[in-house]
Amino acid sequence: MGCSNLWAPWRKEYIQTLSEGSDCFICHNLENPRDDDKNLVLWRTEKSIVVLNRYPYNNGHLLIAPARHIANLDEATDEELLELTKLVRECQKALSATINPDGFNVGMNFSRCAGAGLPGHLHIHIVPRWDGDTNFMNVCSDTNIVSQSLAELAEQLKQISKKESLPCL
Ligand SMILES: [Zn+2]
Repeated sequence: MGCSNLWAPWRKEYIQTLSEGSDCFICHNLENPRDDDKNLVLWRTEKSIVVLNRYPYNNGHLLIAPARHIANLDEATDEELLELTKLVRECQKALSATINPDGFNVGMNFSRCAGAGLPGHLHIHIVPRWDGDTNFMNVCSDTNIVSQSLAELAEQLKQISKKESLPCL
């Protein structure tokens, strides 16, 4: 587990937002398609949504969520589970074509005690990894740089998606 300790100081802001009892940002994004650019929405599919994590653990951190506000996998239909899994594959394709990671962490957290930032709406994290990236992120810890690079990365991912016809479900 030598490469699992990423240092992401901008997440402090995120954790503060949570303690203020904010609403579900995934549902908010789903209901406001006109704000997709601002909300860093990458894809909308029949049953799901894919967004860039505004508080990333690493460059290119994506979140895949079902369109329904459900907390647990046993509430998801087989069709939803299939689409979510296919989207993991498609996110990896898009990220590989855009920022060429050496690897990925893919995972889910259930309930606050397990580190879920948004326990009410299940979501899959896709975190690109590079050899030696724990060192890299120390250099890029400034929140403004992160926000700026998020908008640029979102644009690059959209262009790649168009070119490669992603997501292919
Ligand atoms: Zn929700």
